[in-house]
Amino acid sequence: MTVNGRSTILAPSQNVELLQRAAKFAEVARETAASSDEAGRLDGDLWAALRDTELAMAPFAPTLGGSGLGQPGTDSMLCSILRLIGGADLSVARLFEGHVNAVMLVSRYGTSHQVEALADNVRNGGLSGVWGAEDAAGLRRESLGESWKLIGTKIFASGAGSVSRPLITVTTPSGHVLYLVDFDASGRADHGAWTPLGMKASASGTVDLTGIVVGRSEQIGEAGDYMRQPFFSGGAWRFCAAHLGAMERLTALYCEHLRTRGRDRDSHQLERVARCTAACGTTLFWVEEASRRFGDECLEPAGVVAFSNLTRMVVERAALDVLEHVQRGIGLSAFMRPHPIERICRDLATYLRQPVPDLAMTDAARAVLDRTLSVGDIS
Ligand SMILES: Cc1cc2nc3c(=O)[nH]c(=O)nc-3n(C[C@H](O)[C@H](O)[C@H](O)COP(=O)(O)OP(=O)(O)OC[C@H]3O[C@@H](n4cnc5c(N)ncnc54)[C@H](O)[C@@H]3O)c2cc1C
Repeated sequence: MTVNGRSTILAPSQNVELLQRAAKFAEVARETAASSDEAGRLDGDLWAALRDTELAMAPFAPTLGGSGLGQPGTDSMLCSILRLIGGADLSVARLFEGHVNAVMLVSRYGTSHQVEALADNVRNGGLSGVWGAEDAAGLRRESLGESWKLIGTKIFASGAGSVSRPLITVTTPSGHVLYLVDFDASGRADHGAWTPLGMKASASGTVDLTGIVVGRSEQIGEAGDYMRQPFFSGGAWRFCAAHLGAMERLTALYCEHLRTRGRDRDSHQLERVARCTAACGTTLFWVEEASRRFGDECLEPAGVVAFSNLTRMVVERAALDVLEHVQRGIGLSAFMRPHPIERICRDLATYLRQPVPDLAMTDAARAVLDRTLSVGDIS
């Protein structure tokens, strides 16, 4: 079976059914986006839709009631779903992407018991996420003999207050250790420092994990697994797919505005429409190819990472171009609430800020210079 011309492990009926559920969920995300942005947290109807569509179960294996989304062979499907949700509400896409990443990590490195326990939690309405970002003090662990006591906080933790089963990283001398923690979500979250321009509804607050005791049963895999390549850097294509969804939506809203205002014959506007469309198309080609390479276990990890890093650079540039063209082409109205363009531009501009973009680009360039990735291999 193929999706967008690419093979998938899902049967045709499963593909259709999963996409239908994702489209239904995205519809609710689109309808609730403005109120979620206003409230700084996801609307209640969105959580209900997540339960009704059972989309959060999709990244688990079919034997656990999922669709294996995120497993090799489903990359094109995951790309389509992230675009759909990203086009509806980028904050929701951020939470969904984090959840998929967490389930993928637990499925890859965890024991079958740990995966089943997480699936049980998600089946009952839970959502996971990956919380890695830290302030200067960081998160550390103190030995209690067989177990460890956590001391410190996580910052920019999406879904803080709602995500009760996050995957957190703790830096140790042997590398990052992943723990799947189970805790009272609302009691430890602080949104006081989450005052961003956009992505407000992702509620990416600070979470104080001090005092939580973790041991072997909470530990997922071994120290160092979290940053194992190509999975760590190669997975960047997923947030790029969410960005693409928002770029496509902005372009569609821009065209709608030009038609409504009768400005769709002006040559300057036509050029901007062409540039936005080309930026979305370029992004789609790169993201789809990055996802395909990520799912191809025969490829050299270093080459997959280099391609992913280049994809980040291309997508960031293309998204910034779309933002500029749409804002110039619409003018002041694009900055007026409650026009959806105003919110989507804020969300996209904020979500584009990802870790170490300069390093991602220079690492990719080094990979080309040392022939890990050849220029001809890009086409
Ligand atoms: C909406 C949203 C939700 C998020 N949710 C989560 C979450 O759930 N979990 C999580 O772990 N994180 C989350 N994050 C945080 C994310 O993982 C990154 O930590 C964050 O986006 C980094 O952005 P930054 O611009 O501060 O990056 P930085 O890496 O600080 O980059 C800023 C600039 O500094 C440059 N730079 C970086 N390092 C150096 C250096 N050593 N020397 C010189 N220049 C340097 C970069 O190239 C760039 O130009 C979220 C972020 C956003 C926007």
